[in-house]
Amino acid sequence: MSTDEKEPGVESYAYRAEMKQLLHLIVHSLYTHREVFLRELVSNASDALNKLRIRQLSGEPVLDAREPLAIELAVDKDAGVLTVEDTGIGMGHDDLVERIGTIASSGTLAFVEAAAASGKPVDAGLIGQFGVGFYAAFMVADRVEIETRHADPDSTAWKWSSDGSGTFTIEPSSRTRRGTLVRLLLREDAKEFSQSWRVESVVRRYSNFVDFPIRLDGKAINTVKALWELRKEDVSDEERKEFYTFHTGDDEEPLGHLHLKVEGRVDARALLFIPAKAPRLFFREDELPGPHLYANRVFIQDDCKPLLPEYLRFVRGVVDTEDLPLNVSREVTQDSPVMARLREVLVGKILGLLEAWATEEPERLERFTKAFGTLFKTGLSSDFANRERIVELLRFESTSTEPGSHTSLAAYVERAGDDSKKIWYLAAESRAAAERNPNLEGFRKRGIEVLLLVDPVDVFVVPAIGPYRERTLESIDQARADLGKAPERDEAGKVLEGKALSKLIDRFKSVLGDAVEDVQASERLVESAVGLVAGRNTLDRQTERMMRLMGQDVPPAKRILEINPAHPLILNLDRLRSQAGNEEQIERVIRQLHEGALLLDGSLENPADFVSRMTRMMVEATGSAESGDPA
Ligand code: ADP
Repeated sequence: MSTDEKEPGVESYAYRAEMKQLLHLIVHSLYTHREVFLRELVSNASDALNKLRIRQLSGEPVLDAREPLAIELAVDKDAGVLTVEDTGIGMGHDDLVERIGTIASSGTLAFVEAAAASGKPVDAGLIGQFGVGFYAAFMVADRVEIETRHADPDSTAWKWSSDGSGTFTIEPSSRTRRGTLVRLLLREDAKEFSQSWRVESVVRRYSNFVDFPIRLDGKAINTVKALWELRKEDVSDEERKEFYTFHTGDDEEPLGHLHLKVEGRVDARALLFIPAKAPRLFFREDELPGPHLYANRVFIQDDCKPLLPEYLRFVRGVVDTEDLPLNVSREVTQDSPVMARLREVLVGKILGLLEAWATEEPERLERFTKAFGTLFKTGLSSDFANRERIVELLRFESTSTEPGSHTSLAAYVERAGDDSKKIWYLAAESRAAAERNPNLEGFRKRGIEVLLLVDPVDVFVVPAIGPYRERTLESIDQARADLGKAPERDEAGKVLEGKALSKLIDRFKSVLGDAVEDVQASERLVESAVGLVAGRNTLDRQTERMMRLMGQDVPPAKRILEINPAHPLILNLDRLRSQAGNEEQIERVIRQLHEGALLLDGSLENPADFVSRMTRMMVEATGSAESGDPA
């Protein structure tokens, strides 16, 4: 930013390049729901009033101490002007330079750019989520002016002005009141926002639950009502839904809610919601939302982290406690014992709600699992006190569920029967990849259910489960997987056994050498001739892949090749082996089998060899068919 004074007392600043680009997009893109600019301005005003209240509570002197905390809107239809004024904390000269005119979140520009580049009108509602609230005003205004005076009694007042192109100016202002006035000179296509009915309806829609009175040309237009203070029965579904939308910006019906009155070790009231969907950007730890904290009806903190453990931070709404002092600071909320008790109670209630869904409304829990299952599962390794409860709420896909649907461990065990000793799982990148895994064949044939872990975090979650109802969880990709009794073979089915089998296995070993950890007969293959399983003390393939994704240096573990002693190809190989002179062909088939298994597994490094060997084998096969003369 640079400054030069063209007129006396007027400093002129250029926006930073990134901000300039962003403004250009805001001014020139086409938006739907442009009216949300007003929500952003009202929300800034409300934040400023909260800051003032905190300053008052901390005993610092404030200008116009008796001035009530409120937001005043005014429209001038003839001039095409809308103003939003608050009696909040106000801004000093440096605030105007530094806070107005910087992009809070680094992803913002990229997001708006991508949205604009899509060629479709951009939903302005999204912009508000990206910390450029104030600049949304340029969707509807040719020029925006701010007149502001900070609450410090010694402050002086300033005027900021910009047309949203390259520069803004700052000069002294004659304002004497505490707080901020934002004046929008509306664009030709946005004059509707200088009509009071329009402004009123936007405020009612988006800002009805702001904690301070909002007046439009002197008339009160919002309901300052703390729904969480009311009795459950006195809040209508409609009101609750409006409140949810106000708090989250989410128009969709939430998946569920909790209206709580807590008494005893800690006194609190709460109105909490589980949204129907995860918000955009979800899963970046710093973007996780969380409920807002109030103390005795006074707003303390947005998205208050200490209120809930991370794995439940999809829960939104308000928690209001009488046990925190009003002037509590963020630092204090971090490790106050009141917060710890609150958190304990809230976690218990939220798990209780999910448990109720599990028994009474499983389809609701299923929707929950789809939206938040991944984050929720991580609780298993962080919330030891609630482990048992969390385990019961975990849901996984399995060979007995439709793709995209889930089962509990309890239901798995019930289906498996009392004699089952293990809970089998297979980790894979996707349902389709899991279904392709040859190691599943034997389990299918025997009718044994296998959990299909297709969520990347599963490979960390499952080991944390430990034994479940005395059954251990085991990967079917592990060599030690012992399936028990072999399935019945077809009557005509021949199986390679005994000495012949061990001789063929030796031949595999000598051909493959170091490329595998071992070769052994398989119990789980049915249709496939061979398959790969993890070595005896190594990670299964999916875990290995995940750990690499997480930036850990895991050397590729050697795998065990399993052969299917009942497969016609294996029987053929045995026949070839017992006749002399087939060395080369046997070797080629063994290599091809091994590399084919690697290919299925996603770990074949040199497909060229594989393909050229295959081509050669096809030439031989087709040539011999024609001439009747084996090559
Ligand atoms: P955000 O509100 O997401 O921080 P904005 O661009 O809307 O982003 O506002 C940037 C900053 O400008 C705010 O964080 C606040 O410090 C300041 N600000 C905006 N409006 C007001 C206001 N009415 N009173 C005091 N400060 C304000």
